[in-house]
Amino acid sequence: MPRKTGGVTEDLNLNSIVSRQFDKAAATLDYPAALLAQIKACNNIVQFTFPVRLGREMMVVTGWRAEHSHHHKPLKGGIRYSEHVTADEVMALAALMTYKCAIVDLPYGGSKGGVAINPRVHEPEVLEAVTRRFTAELLSKNFIGPGINVPAPDMGTGEREMAWIYDTYDTFHRGGIDNMACVTGKPVSLGGIPGRAEATGRGVQFGIREAMQEKSDLKKVGLSPGLEGKRIAVQGLGNVGYHAARLLVEEDGCILTGIGEWDGTIINEKGLSPVAVQEHRLKTGSIRGFPGARTLASSRAVLEVPCDILIPAALENQITLENADRLRCKILAEAANGPTTPGAEAVLLKKGVLVIPDVYLNSGGVTVSYFEWSRNLLHMRYGMLEKRLDERWRTGFLDSIETLVDQRFAPRLRETLVKGADELSLVTSGLEDTMVQAYREIRDILRSRPKVKDLRTAAYVLAIEKIAKAYMSLGIFP
Ligand code: NAD
Repeated sequence: MPRKTGGVTEDLNLNSIVSRQFDKAAATLDYPAALLAQIKACNNIVQFTFPVRLGREMMVVTGWRAEHSHHHKPLKGGIRYSEHVTADEVMALAALMTYKCAIVDLPYGGSKGGVAINPRVHEPEVLEAVTRRFTAELLSKNFIGPGINVPAPDMGTGEREMAWIYDTYDTFHRGGIDNMACVTGKPVSLGGIPGRAEATGRGVQFGIREAMQEKSDLKKVGLSPGLEGKRIAVQGLGNVGYHAARLLVEEDGCILTGIGEWDGTIINEKGLSPVAVQEHRLKTGSIRGFPGARTLASSRAVLEVPCDILIPAALENQITLENADRLRCKILAEAANGPTTPGAEAVLLKKGVLVIPDVYLNSGGVTVSYFEWSRNLLHMRYGMLEKRLDERWRTGFLDSIETLVDQRFAPRLRETLVKGADELSLVTSGLEDTMVQAYREIRDILRSRPKVKDLRTAAYVLAIEKIAKAYMSLGIFP
């Protein structure tokens, strides 16, 4: 439904926004209308309403799980806890999951869950009761299971909630050998995988890094290649925003000039340390008043901070027709789902801003979830079988080189080379390759298809083509 933002009327319904983005890409392709309709439609959605005890009172909670596409199974997607979540939003996020998984080549259909609750105002025992009941409801509708539908964290949920989901599922499926693969994003001690907590932020880092290699795109926005010294600003210092900002600052030499949170914006042109800001936030309850930074009352003010790369990593509909013209970034890197309305994107593209779309950029979380799920089904750590053998071979190889050149490797380098990759390095390497590969495929579509004019449309084209191929190989759509 159209809504007014700052006197301007535009449609802020995420489901219709995703649908318009899909249609724009589909219009450049030549598929039968029925096939496109099947790819676009949300296959199933269930709503649950249940009571939960809140001290002496009872509270009624509503939640949803949408299954967007069954072209691959299981279905995959996070669970969001937010008092603003709606059925429409959950369906839109499930659709994004389908396209995201196709873009990064994961064999999943898209799904998403939402529970209309504010996790910030409830005690852990209330959140535990809600999570366990929601999981029981999912079980009753056959909406969860290692080969059926596999949840993960999203806004407002994390490792703790995933552990409760696993434990509830396990209680109802005693002895199920694959039970651990019923949910991802679990603590490492409970079958989780190292690197999952920061995976989406890491994927954002890799995606931006790859975009910063594309000389012709950078020339258009007036930036030199590489990330060293580039100014970034981040909205939302949660799971995605915190890790993306931390990694871009610590590993790529970016300067973080602005951070926006729900209760305000802090700015320091000389650079902010995400780790120090997070510590300040934990101590004081807010980013406001961070030493050395200017504090502004508005959470959206961060979007207008002059910077090279703006990273919205909080909510949808943050960049609208009302504020698009005031953005002063050269690249908009969408870490959050749906932060930009189509109207705002048109304004930004006209201004020459490079938009790296959500449907590609935040797929690091589901990619590492795929590694976790696969490893749970394998029942073995990655690298476990070959580790010793590889170490012995590498030792022999290094010994031969040392004899041949009559020189010794520095002890630390030798140790690293002999030891090889641990599980975290393997996960990070797999994620990097996935993000780089997908960016190149998207960029190739943009380069080679005259009807495709922007990265988002190119990403959707890539997704539609892959899903269409899956449906066509089923023989349903010749
Ligand atoms: P989170 O709950 O960990 O963090 C969200 C952060 O945004 C919090 O720090 C919160 O205080 C802040 N915030 C809330 N309202 C705000 C406002 N009005 N202005 C500024 N900041 C505000 O959530 P997350 O998991 O980091 O998810 C953020 C976005 O990334 C969402 O759009 C989510 O769908 C998307 N995403 C998350 C994952 C994942 O693995 N967690 C994966 C893909 C996409």
